[in-house]
Amino acid sequence: MENFFNKDLNESYDVVILGGGPAGCSAGMYAARDALSVVILEKNFPGGNMAITEHIENYPGFTEPVLGHEITEKFVKHAQKFGAVIRQGNCVEVIDEGVWKTVILEDGRKIKCKALIIATGSKPKKTGAKNEEHFIGRGISFCATCDGGFFRNKEVVVVGGGDSALEEGMYLTKFASKVTIVHRRNEFRAAKIIQQRAKENEKMHFMTPYTVEEVMGENTVTGVKLRNTQTNEVIDYKCDGIFEFIGWDANTDIFTDYIEMTNGGFIKASEDTVTNVPGVFAAGDVRKKGLMQVVTAASDGAVAAKMAEKYINEELKH
Ligand code: NAP
Repeated sequence: MENFFNKDLNESYDVVILGGGPAGCSAGMYAARDALSVVILEKNFPGGNMAITEHIENYPGFTEPVLGHEITEKFVKHAQKFGAVIRQGNCVEVIDEGVWKTVILEDGRKIKCKALIIATGSKPKKTGAKNEEHFIGRGISFCATCDGGFFRNKEVVVVGGGDSALEEGMYLTKFASKVTIVHRRNEFRAAKIIQQRAKENEKMHFMTPYTVEEVMGENTVTGVKLRNTQTNEVIDYKCDGIFEFIGWDANTDIFTDYIEMTNGGFIKASEDTVTNVPGVFAAGDVRKKGLMQVVTAASDGAVAAKMAEKYINEELKH
């Protein structure tokens, strides 16, 4: 992938896209194809949560599972092929003066744009268990692909009952000797096909209905206290590590006084990605929606770029 660090940025673009995940890259590709000047600003590395997913097996057209970082590379190259520019940059503020919006970056650089596409995605939620903060990075992880290898022949707890918990749990069985899914209800939210696969995996164990009350250990995790959500009984459960997959919080902190959000902090925009602020569009996991997938993020990106093009070439010209 082209190195996108420390490269020049223009003073202005037609469209600035915040976030280089599937929504941002797709928006960049569509905007560039519509002959708009466009920059995708990514805070860390492109791909977002897609890049750190081990395998993606439900993106249409990819009949075989594809590695998250491989599909990321394809998304980035596809956007660049049509002229989208991708740069590293962390937006800390947007100053909206109507026709022009100014994106302020952490390092002080300022970039003007006519339309802004927010595709900043989301970050993993935490359980709030006692000692959780102390053990994050020391036995508690939110990324099986990144940290699974540290738990070879060890026992891990995976918290959550959705697709992520069960899929990442199965991935962890490649390393761990035992993976216990701890879920607060007896029914799982995960798709039936994923539940079935998880239940057929001999290394997978299930503790329901339980929540994690406390993480135990000194320098490393040695276990968890689990509370039964029906009886309130608390038990000690031995484990060497904890992976948390209990959903996501939107990366919208800097927009709270600027754009209308849901109570959960996701941007309110319907399928057309249009927000309450003229010229600002929300695409991907940052937008309140029913299904957060790579395919729906990519779809949002395409729609947002089209809406931005209409806004610039029709609304702003009147
Ligand atoms: P999710 O579907 O929102 O599931 C979160 C799980 O965590 C739920 O089971 C929820 O329990 C539980 N939970 C939430 N807060 C909790 C808390 N404070 N303490 C304990 N448990 C808590 O999240 P996800 O699994 O990360 O998936 C996010 C989106 O990505 C979904 O749309 C999913 O379909 C998609 N995804 C798809 C795939 C795939 O298709 N292969 C893979 C990964 C993710 P309740 O059920 O009781 O609410």
